[in-house]
Order: sequence, then structure tokens, then C-alpha cells
Amino acid sequence: MELKIENVSKNFKSFKALNNISIELNCGIYGLLGPNGAGKSTLINLITDNLKRDSGSILWDGEEILKLGKKYRNILGYMPQQQGYYEEYTAAGFLMYIAHLKGLKKKQAMEKVEEMLHIVNMDEHKNKRIGTFSGGMKQRVLLAQALLNDPKILILDEPTAGVDPQERIRIRNFISKIAKDRIVILATHIVSDVEAISDKILLMGKGEIHKQGAPHKLLEDIKDKVYEINIEHDNIDEIQSEYVVSNLRNSREGLVAKIVSDEEPRNRNYKKTIANLEDVYLYYFNEGN
Ligand code: ADP
Ligand code: MG
Repeated sequence: MELKIENVSKNFKSFKALNNISIELNCGIYGLLGPNGAGKSTLINLITDNLKRDSGSILWDGEEILKLGKKYRNILGYMPQQQGYYEEYTAAGFLMYIAHLKGLKKKQAMEKVEEMLHIVNMDEHKNKRIGTFSGGMKQRVLLAQALLNDPKILILDEPTAGVDPQERIRIRNFISKIAKDRIVILATHIVSDVEAISDKILLMGKGEIHKQGAPHKLLEDIKDKVYEINIEHDNIDEIQSEYVVSNLRNSREGLVAKIVSDEEPRNRNYKKTIANLEDVYLYYFNEGN
């Protein structure tokens, strides 16, 4: 199982949305992490063949996806960022409709719909209208929809958008549960969405992949760059212009800033501290990279 993206570029007029991206994906959860505007949805639209690329190739087990056509779409599950709102449908009705579009026979569709609603814990709401659901419940229905054809490649674009923290955790857990034996691409700008569940994180900014690796590997790379320094309230602005500040906290000794820096802080008392993935994110996306 291999999805290979080679030298893929996409421009919108003269704007380079994707600049020569090359990545290889195998079984596992890939956290595509980057700020708004990084190009995540554009990349996903190329992988799902909803948008025409300017150059490069995308190969599924060695074959160009544009040549595979329907055969490729059959192994694809996609939860789009921009959701069409099917407010009038019930959850089950909507899934039956999508199953029909995906070409499932009625009996098989009914079984699948039940199964998927159960996976995302929506059994008891299946006959209620989507319009009455919370943001999190709508996202769960969309996730179920993406799973109907038991896809080998599952693509989730900002699956926790507009969702409260509890639901966010719940959705994350569903994703872990259903990830086995698939390639899962989870695009998000929220570090905590991918921190715990990704096998590999792809840091994307300004149309390029800046860095990729297992979460522990990314943490290891910056482990000697994270410090805590004691500062005064009056210095906050100065510190923030001098350093990448990932956190400010009050301690018994006063205000403590956590910073990510290539060099040891000068003229200040400091101690090294443990890096987390937010520090990694800030390190690579500082100054609008
Ligand atoms: P992300 O999903 O990471 O937030 P997008 O892929 O949506 O980023 O967008 C990347 C960049 O490409 C943004 O600057 C966006 O404005 C631009 N862009 C996306 N789609 C289009 C389009 N259809 N026409 C023009 N510009 C676009
Ligand atoms: Mg997007």
C-alpha cells in the first residue's frame, strides 16, 4: 500500500499554492499540520482528484491515479473541509444517499450505514435530522460517510473544525479506532489533533513540506532548543520580539517564559526544559514560514 506524491506543484494564477511537493505514504496516520493558507486543502484536492495539478505525479501502488480513475476513487474516502450541509436529511438518510452515490447495492448499503453509524456512536441519533445536530455530531456523520466504502486511503480535512474539546477528543479516538490497515491523512492547524495519534507528522507551510517525521523524532530534533527564562512583566513585549515564546506562566518566582531558540539565552538566567509538539510547530512556523 503506497501513495507516492512526486514533484507536485499547483499555482492559482501566479500564486504558488504548492511548490514541488514529494511525499511517500504507507499504512498509518499522517498528520498534515500547518497554518491556515499553507496549502493543505489544495494538496488534498489533488490527491482526491478534485483539482487539476500543474505538474508532477501521484501514484497509487506505482500507477498514476489519473489513469486509474474509478478504480482509484473506489478506494478513497474523503471528508471535505467545506461541508455541503444536508440539514434536511436524517443521519441514516444522508448516509444511504452517499452509499447510493458510491454505487453500493441497497442491502449492502443498509448494513454499511448501520455499521458506520455505530462506529461513530450515532446509533441513537440516526433518524434525527442533521440540522438539529451539534457541530461535533455533524462531523461524526461526515466521518461515517467517508468510511462507507471501507477506503484504503482516508482523507480528513480539518475534521475537528467547530467542535468543542470533548468532541474533539472523541473524534480523535474514532480516527485512531478506524485507522488500521489504511493510509489516513489528517489535515489540521491544531497541534493537539495530531499529536497523540499520528504515526508521522508532515509540517506544511507556504506550499511546502518543511519537515516530516514521527512525533518523538520531531521532539528530539528540538530538544536542546527549549528554555525557560525568568522575566518581568514589563519585558514581555521585548522578549516576544527577541524570542519565539511558546508559553508564559506565573510561578512563585515570578513570570516564566518558555522559549524555543537555536542559541542559549544571553544575559539571562535560564534552564533547559522539555519540548512539546507546540514548540516544534512554533519553531518551524515562526515568522510566517
Ligand atoms: P489550507 O488548507 O492549508 O488552509 P489552502 O490549500 O486552502 O490552505 O490554500 C492555500 C493557498 O491557496 C491560500 O493562500 C489560498 O488563498 C489559496 N487558494 C486556495 N484555493 C484557491 C483557489 N481556488 N483560487 C485561488 N487561490 C486559492
Ligand atoms: Mg484547508
